[in-house]
Amino acid sequence: MAKKYSHAIHWFRRDLRLTDNTALRAATQESEEVIPFYLLSSWKKHHLWTGPKRQQFLCECLESLAKNIEHLGGEFIIRQGDALAEIEKLAKESNADAIYFNQDPDPFGKKIEAQLATLCENLGIACHPLQDAVLHGPEEILKGDGTPYRVYTPYSKPWLAAEKRKPLGKPRTLKTPSGLDSAPLPSLKTWELTFDGEEILRGGERSARDRMSQALQDRVASYEKYRDVPSVLGTSRLSQDLRWGTISVRELYDRAKECGSLQYLKELAWREFYFAILHHFPEVLKWEFKADWRGLPWDEPDEKFEAWKKGETGFPIIDAGIRELLATGFMHNRVRMIVAMFLTKDLHIDWRLGEQFFMQHLVDGEIASNNGGWQWSAGTGADAAPYFRIQNPWSQTKTHDSQGEYIRKWVPELTKVPAKALYGPPEADCPIAPDYVMPILDHSTERNITLARFKKHRADQN
Ligand SMILES: Cc1cc2nc3c(=O)[nH]c(=O)nc-3n(C[C@H](O)[C@H](O)[C@H](O)COP(=O)(O)OP(=O)(O)OC[C@H]3O[C@@H](n4cnc5c(N)ncnc54)[C@H](O)[C@@H]3O)c2cc1C
Repeated sequence: MAKKYSHAIHWFRRDLRLTDNTALRAATQESEEVIPFYLLSSWKKHHLWTGPKRQQFLCECLESLAKNIEHLGGEFIIRQGDALAEIEKLAKESNADAIYFNQDPDPFGKKIEAQLATLCENLGIACHPLQDAVLHGPEEILKGDGTPYRVYTPYSKPWLAAEKRKPLGKPRTLKTPSGLDSAPLPSLKTWELTFDGEEILRGGERSARDRMSQALQDRVASYEKYRDVPSVLGTSRLSQDLRWGTISVRELYDRAKECGSLQYLKELAWREFYFAILHHFPEVLKWEFKADWRGLPWDEPDEKFEAWKKGETGFPIIDAGIRELLATGFMHNRVRMIVAMFLTKDLHIDWRLGEQFFMQHLVDGEIASNNGGWQWSAGTGADAAPYFRIQNPWSQTKTHDSQGEYIRKWVPELTKVPAKALYGPPEADCPIAPDYVMPILDHSTERNITLARFKKHRADQN
């Protein structure tokens, strides 16, 4: 049977896989020939959230995707520049009569989608935006009165109960018209970046699928038991693959359900809760979600902020977390919370600076979840920790790294220190270990300052 279109562009964005790729599958089913396309945006080079680890991972994802496309008989077309200008050029060169893409959950991506719809109308080509990155879009899970949820638990109930689309396979063949130019696969040089670390996970669909199988086989069933123990590989470690779409969230959900951990499925709901918050309240990228906390005073970044960024605060759990991040582009969730709360409540530094630092270093850097996590820790976000619940980094160590194994892994100065020495500040002038820095502040003093600031701000509002 003749297909609907002769030439369709599939614009890969954060869906860097062939398996269960909603828009790619539709494009291959509905068009004789498909142009698998990726755009290297020029603005990325200068953006304050760009960093080498996530870009390195992206490079590997694109390299793997190029091979997989070739394996199906197609050719990956890469271009660099402005998205709309490049798509227009490519559409004209290839005589495309349609463009397919999976929708982006971020406001920046959505803005381009709206402009692309207009461009397609002007060019007289069909435009097919499809939902792929989430199980349920932000307009699907709403309160009875049609307004968005602002709190996670009531959101998660209809999210868990809603029927989920089943994952689909991958296209068997993919035919690309010949004669189209492509830029070479990118390297870190493309963004004028360098990185000599070797500890980041490997990017690409094959590696991601192996990780997913391993996590489902070994860890998801016991997720609840180990998820808060940073020294153990107890979580799925799939956030970068969900971020870049090297695995499908439908497939992950479907297979994870078989493991019987409701807690794990709830984590996937957290991810979509934050996407929904960003969709309905895009101002969170600029402002505190809770309007009451807008205008809170923050300290100017100083040498203590620099010490935090290097993992040299003299608080072992904080330093371990930051050093893990710098080396691997990942930080355990429990430690992310402790580290973020320390920056906002002990150093009184604006959560936006922490958000930026994380985006520069995280391989899984996800605008919605990162913003949600930072605002949660600062006490200003949707369903956030109340401002007076300030975690004590010393007692958090005792609870979550009682043997000090996580700390010793990342802070070699502390290799020989007994676990108990990590549960509280050292005596004056007597560092925890000879070559380890003294704590840069006193937690109780800073805690009281934070409480006073939040209280004063609230009183000033009334
Ligand atoms: C300050 C801060 C910043 C964060 N920044 C990011 C970020 O940029 N990108 C990111 O993906 N996650 C972020 N998180 C959430 C969480 O830390 C990571 O998703 C998690 O550590 C990833 O490890 P995992 O894949 O082993 O997760 P698992 O525990 O195995 O969970 C499975 C999946 O559920 C999702 N998930 C789990 N917890 C959360 C959560 N609290 N919020 C949203 N989604 C969640 C992730 O996609 C994760 O891969 C942040 C949390 C905090 C406190």
